[in-house]
Amino acid sequence: MKQKGTLLNTMGIDLTRTSFDEIGEEHVGSSLETPLREDAFAMTDELKIELIEKHFREIMNILGLDLSDDSLKGTPHRVAKMYVKEVFSGLNPKNKPAAKLFENKFKYNEMLVEKDITFHSHCEHHFVPIYGKAHVAYISNGHVIGLSKINRIVQYYAKRPQVQERLTMQIGNELKSALGTEDVAVIMDAYHMCVSSRGVQDTNSTTVTSFYSGKFEREEQSRNEFLNYISLEK
Ligand SMILES: [Zn+2]
Repeated sequence: MKQKGTLLNTMGIDLTRTSFDEIGEEHVGSSLETPLREDAFAMTDELKIELIEKHFREIMNILGLDLSDDSLKGTPHRVAKMYVKEVFSGLNPKNKPAAKLFENKFKYNEMLVEKDITFHSHCEHHFVPIYGKAHVAYISNGHVIGLSKINRIVQYYAKRPQVQERLTMQIGNELKSALGTEDVAVIMDAYHMCVSSRGVQDTNSTTVTSFYSGKFEREEQSRNEFLNYISLEK
């Protein structure tokens, strides 16, 4: 997973001189929040699937595909259902996993690390997959969260059209509020299909993004301990 890592600065991206086209091509996001309209969930999932199906059929038609072919017939419906119920289901707050905290005084002040969480997301600029591993750490304030919950939080934010920097920060911020601590770190190491299958067609490069807060931001020692656990370059 870690051929050529590009360490991106997740903060302070200067957008003033960048055109929208360049934003898309360079995979820079414009905000921490996923840009959603106020009425994003006014429609039911069923209606969304029906409408996306209709429009996706039209895209296939325009491409000249024969929709009467048995192999293609069901594709518009499958794609629509996959968008709404699976790969973009994390847009809808009703699908957000509830995080239950457990008291665990023995873990007080201890660093807890969950590494190699596989995730699949989609680039919001090309709608093609971004996939890789997430590594998460926090320093317990006496509360812990189930490991499967951390995994579910990662998957929830991954199931949106994303940019990797935003995804990393959304997971970090969610863990901060779920765990009631500032001491959270997230590192994501991912392949971007829009880099490997189009554009520059570099198949080996991965992109590494990081989020450090609290002790991880202030203390090199905490950061290094985490990086040692996941054995990435410091
Ligand atoms: Zn892309």
